[in-house]
Amino acid sequence: MMSDEIIVKGNPNIPNIALTFDDGPGRITPYILDVLRKYGVKATFFCLGCCIDKNIAAQDNTGRYITGNEIVKRANDEGHLIAIHSHDHRDLTGLTDEEILNNELSRTKKIITNLIGKTPVYFRPPYGSIDDRVNNIAKALDLKIVLWNCRSADSSTEPAIILGGSLKYKYGPVDIYSNIMRNIENGSIILCHDGHSGKYDANFGIVSALDRAIPELQQKRFNFVTVDDLLATGNYVIQD
Ligand SMILES: [Zn+2]
Repeated sequence: MMSDEIIVKGNPNIPNIALTFDDGPGRITPYILDVLRKYGVKATFFCLGCCIDKNIAAQDNTGRYITGNEIVKRANDEGHLIAIHSHDHRDLTGLTDEEILNNELSRTKKIITNLIGKTPVYFRPPYGSIDDRVNNIAKALDLKIVLWNCRSADSSTEPAIILGGSLKYKYGPVDIYSNIMRNIENGSIILCHDGHSGKYDANFGIVSALDRAIPELQQKRFNFVTVDDLLATGNYVIQD
């Protein structure tokens, strides 16, 4: 495959689909991991270096507090694919080549490699924002760019955000469930969040939305796979 291809969807003829989570690790990631484990589902996590570094503490369902890097290790140990989102969730097209390469991509690649002992291969730029420079730097780092074709819209917020306050999310769990079910098709790459731009907690509604959507989609004979497995069958769809 050409490394400057931007992948948006898997093989349209095979009922494999990929759940992807951006902006984590975050406080809701342990609960997402619990739901994925409950249904034997493997997913892909596009992580922020700042959230791994910052060591946010999250309580899991045993009452134990675990840190950002322990969450990513757990996800890796449970068979999920760990990928790169960036370090600080900035729009990369507004940065210098030097900043994109050193501050964002190669830095996060190193953080993940040191943590899990595997070199990440996939990269999703914040806001899906890409230009030729971002594309070329990703290529130089041997990163494959993966976007999405199915939005859960879990990160959509109400327009009025109180400065310094918490986010008010537009959609609750039933809306998020419907957004996924309405848009799903063979090869879908589903955009979800387990954090929010490195600054806020993700929409907790994604947890119960998935607890309802996953078994229904499995009943419809969809297989949940990592991005790696989604692309392994070839015939994936790239952006025009
Ligand atoms: Zn993001």
